[in-house]
Amino acid sequence: MPGDPFALRELLGPDAALCRRAITGEHGVSLPPFTDHHVHLHLIDERALAPGGIAAVLDLGGDPVALAQRPADAIPRVAYAGAFLTAPGGYPAGRPWAPPQIVREITDASTHPGVPGGAATAVDEQASFGASVIKIALNSTTGPIPDADALAAIVATARERGLPVVAHAEGEGMPQLAAEAGADAFAHTPFSGYVGRAFIAHAVAAGQVWISTLAIPDDPDAAESARVNLAGFAAAGGRVLYGTDLGNGDRPVGVIAEEVTALDRAGVRGAALIAAMADPWPAAAPPSGVTTFVPGDPPTHLDEVAEWLRGATVVPSEELIHDEC
Ligand SMILES: [Zn+2]
Repeated sequence: MPGDPFALRELLGPDAALCRRAITGEHGVSLPPFTDHHVHLHLIDERALAPGGIAAVLDLGGDPVALAQRPADAIPRVAYAGAFLTAPGGYPAGRPWAPPQIVREITDASTHPGVPGGAATAVDEQASFGASVIKIALNSTTGPIPDADALAAIVATARERGLPVVAHAEGEGMPQLAAEAGADAFAHTPFSGYVGRAFIAHAVAAGQVWISTLAIPDDPDAAESARVNLAGFAAAGGRVLYGTDLGNGDRPVGVIAEEVTALDRAGVRGAALIAAMADPWPAAAPPSGVTTFVPGDPPTHLDEVAEWLRGATVVPSEELIHDEC
């Protein structure tokens, strides 16, 4: 039944609760604040994020100087990679949406600081501007990728700085290359073919996180590869993070219903779906002082959850009154 707190938590996870807004009296459900783990802020109107249900974002490719100037305590809370690290002439250098400020072309595999074009120099620069992760581009479909030495130097320096490495892996063998190099996360669920069970088992054992972006591929084969790969990863106990690549394509800003539905179809459903959206990674804890509010009656069945989440918005926690328990 709709008002049963046990049924509610079964469906939506341990933090779901019935509530009402103090000012309007509107009733609904409160959930932990949501993070979109893959956005590009310079390409969207970020003011629409919180009204659309997103309280925190991970920017996976932007200008580190601009990102460093943001107020630390604002909502949405922003963690970022800073610039893409790539090979000379590699993806996404030269793309209309990727000005020079957001790309660093690595010309020297040096792990020493201060070497022009050096791998460590690029990592150090992002770290000095407050990056929480390092983004590396391994896209073999449109240009060169960093060679083995540069890749190893980037990962080693990031490790030293305590920064997880997020890989954009696209093209045959690229997810394997990223995993073997020690990448901690995939910016997109691998979509260039099926990765297979051994790859997934290794990814789970290594503690990798996979950022979903299931709704991004235009090619149906790529979309189906991503769905199957993520389903396998999730079923094997892998840590799935909701991410949309917001800024890529013209889409409404906020919770993206197509991504939520695609996750649901990949078997990341109900409480697992909420967990993927509420995971604060790379931060240790969710942003404080805010709560997700979904107005109206709660869903009563697993099949209703994805559609119901369209109504999510971010509200100050103090604005919600919890009547139950
Ligand atoms: Zn992206």
